[in-house]
Amino acid sequence: MDDTVSKEVFGYIQDISAPGGIRSITPKLVARELNEDPGRVFEALVALSDVGLLTQNVLVMCPNCSHILSHTEPMNLNNNMRCEYCCSEFSVSGDNLMVSFTYVPQKKTHHTTFTRLLKLVRVNQ
Ligand SMILES: [Zn+2]
Repeated sequence: MDDTVSKEVFGYIQDISAPGGIRSITPKLVARELNEDPGRVFEALVALSDVGLLTQNVLVMCPNCSHILSHTEPMNLNNNMRCEYCCSEFSVSGDNLMVSFTYVPQKKTHHTTFTRLLKLVRVNQ
């Protein structure tokens, strides 16, 4: 794993998440913003989620019925999947795989939840 890239990636995620907000990001977006190779950014994001700084949400779109299937397990390209809606089998490729990573704010969980609730209240008024 490239330590420089993961530091850069995590710094970027902290920047866009400030102050204490939660953002979902895709490797493509981060790679474009940092001008890095998407593969290296993806590896860095996986490494950061392994140590608990990010949570990983894997979404796969069924190529047959376009249903979005969510996955909590880390997913590899070329894995075979069966769609739970139309029961067709397909292999996971870059075209139907979407991975988003959510920043886990350290020691700010309560504050973040509170801020988000406040925003929700304001939006509804
Ligand atoms: Zn399907």
